[in-house]
Amino acid sequence: MQTYPARAVIDLDAIAANVRTLDAGTSAQVMAVVKADGYGHGLVPAARAARRGGATWLGAAQVVEAIELRAAGDTGRILTWLYAPGAPLREAVEADVDVAVAAPWNVEALVTAAREAGRTARVHLKVDTGLGRNGLTPAQLPEVLRAVMRAQAEGALAVVGVFSHFAFADAPSHPTVLGQAAEFARAVEAVEGAGARLEVRHLANSAATLTNPGVHYDLVRPGIAVYGLSPIPDLKTSEDLGLVPAMTLEAELATVKPLPGGHGLSYAHQYVTPGDTVVGVVPLGYADGVPRHCSGTDGRLGAPVRVGGRRLAIAGRVCMDQLVVDLGPGASEQAGARVELFGTGADGGPTAQDWAEAAGTISYEIVTRLGARVPRHYVGEGAAE
Ligand SMILES: *Cc1c(COP(=O)(O)O)cnc(C)c1O
Repeated sequence: MQTYPARAVIDLDAIAANVRTLDAGTSAQVMAVVKADGYGHGLVPAARAARRGGATWLGAAQVVEAIELRAAGDTGRILTWLYAPGAPLREAVEADVDVAVAAPWNVEALVTAAREAGRTARVHLKVDTGLGRNGLTPAQLPEVLRAVMRAQAEGALAVVGVFSHFAFADAPSHPTVLGQAAEFARAVEAVEGAGARLEVRHLANSAATLTNPGVHYDLVRPGIAVYGLSPIPDLKTSEDLGLVPAMTLEAELATVKPLPGGHGLSYAHQYVTPGDTVVGVVPLGYADGVPRHCSGTDGRLGAPVRVGGRRLAIAGRVCMDQLVVDLGPGASEQAGARVELFGTGADGGPTAQDWAEAAGTISYEIVTRLGARVPRHYVGEGAAE
């Protein structure tokens, strides 16, 4: 039984193949970043497919995501890096998850968690080399380093990693890229100088993994590229990079009906039929994560969709639960006809990147914001698990 008239079809083989492609392009280990519910693709299925493709590490932003991966039976290395006071750090340490130290207060919190768990917590020092977001500034590092090395001597913590994140990885020639890499090298030197025996130094997200082998170090941390989307769409497409988009968003038309010319469509009549035509109603809207910014308004076409092999566009405003497409005069589609909102881009089909451009955002936001009520339907090896 089809319980919902739309779904995100997730190709697990594409995720595995994308990780294989990334792995083949580096001598470093690969951490597949599966935060944000696997960038909307499903945390556990995405993680399993990434492991199959050769990811020796998984990256989760939130601590609960890391714990959930372990609870689902993942036995490999997992790193989590973003938490606030009150986070379930003891559970993370008990689950043998590596945890970032990204602020001075993290040290004491992790020491407490390690004592409660009765085991040593493996930590990665997250240094802010210039992004200006999470992480220890160069000014904070010396004192935090003293504290973590004291905790290491007591057996509470083990410093196994140092990592950082770029501000302009998607602009590989931006001067800050070199500056951050140099700052990172200084931080690594300081940590090793304090006596830490580092397993992994890591700096590269998808864009740096694909454009800058000089910063791969021991481990790369691709996220968006694992899901087949280009982190550098102005420079290269998914296809150029050998990546296959893993998510296809599709729906069945709920209503198809003829309308005369001059008829406004959807709220505020932002689209007016140019002549006699047939319109189709797609049962997906902004409550499902279709951006309202993808509307076709003020004479501008909305985000592209594909119906019956034709590339069409959203006509008028995207509503909470539905949107309208002008199928064109004489269109033969009936209710139930398949609409592809975005997918692999094969044969000229619409992509999440096209949607990002229509909405004035990035493909990351298109896939991660897909609503919880849109069922994920898995295909490929492991889909039945
Ligand atoms: C999200 C994230 C990544 C992955 O970034 P992409 O641009 O999706 O490859 C890597 N490292 C950190 C710290 C992140 O927060």
